[in-house]
Amino acid sequence: MKNNQNVKKYIILGLAVAVIPMVLGIIINQTISNQNTPAPSIFMITPELCEDEEGPNCTELRLGDDFLTTTFPAKGYLYSCVDRNPNAPGATENKITWINFNNKTWNLLEKLWLPPGTFNPETGTYSETISEDIRMIDTNNLPVDGKIGDWPMTKYPLLSEIDGNPGTPSEKTLSFSFPLHPQESPDPSCTPLGPIGVTKNGVAIFNAADGRGEDAAAREIVDIFGGHPAMNTYHYHFIPERIDNEFLDDGHSGIVGYINDGFPIHGYRGENGIEISNEDLDICHGHKHGDLGYHYHATIEYPYTIGCYRGTPISNALEAPQNEPPRNRR
Ligand SMILES: [Zn+2]
Ligand SMILES: [Zn+2]
Repeated sequence: MKNNQNVKKYIILGLAVAVIPMVLGIIINQTISNQNTPAPSIFMITPELCEDEEGPNCTELRLGDDFLTTTFPAKGYLYSCVDRNPNAPGATENKITWINFNNKTWNLLEKLWLPPGTFNPETGTYSETISEDIRMIDTNNLPVDGKIGDWPMTKYPLLSEIDGNPGTPSEKTLSFSFPLHPQESPDPSCTPLGPIGVTKNGVAIFNAADGRGEDAAAREIVDIFGGHPAMNTYHYHFIPERIDNEFLDDGHSGIVGYINDGFPIHGYRGENGIEISNEDLDICHGHKHGDLGYHYHATIEYPYTIGCYRGTPISNALEAPQNEPPRNRR
């Protein structure tokens, strides 16, 4: 009798040992799949844009590598003045875990980003003045809101083995003189490397391609605030979601920056506050509606900012000779 009871006890104990972790495992798995987000990590982000049903699916974003053209602009493409250069520095393809190279998609929620840390450069400056037909914007190319990652990335082997970018952002005079009343050109033009515009956060916008002509946002490691340095020139290849924070009455995004042809770029939301996709936009990644004249939009899919210049661009703000004396910014 006593032996029998002991055997029963062991059987029950054995079952409990086997069943409890199984049940827990199912609960945990369900919790994870219900959330549909990766485990929290200081190297990951979960934009609000990814949490709704509107706009592109953040887990299967189209990889932009094959959508660069140097011949003519096309919807969903980047019209680049510079052809592909496979020898340029960039990320190490076989270390990238968030791109599905078979399907040619990438998962923004699995991508790794540089977290904030002790790096603390000077505060960004931004001044905008209008004189006659010119909108002048001057910045020191550092974020006005002070949000920047812990550069240089070489402090983080996990990241630097994927993307060996050794750069550290530093202050850099950016001076733009945009036409105040830009005109649409019959022939849209290509976008160069370097600044194609500037955000209201004081940081330069670069087009969607990295030095190799591949999808920079998908491949290169940027900080969780959306930027990274080329040498020491900090820049965004897409519009950081947090600076899309002003809205028109119907919920349409406000202006988040200006492009080199003088046309504004608005944030991620179109009419009635609905998130924009490439579908909604023309070959240059812009449109006009209601009282708004021509304007570009940010999207969370390639080419992210603009596809081509709809107007006539000014020359590159960094390469341009410094006609004007540097201003005292402090
Ligand atoms: Zn870049
Ligand atoms: Zn719009």
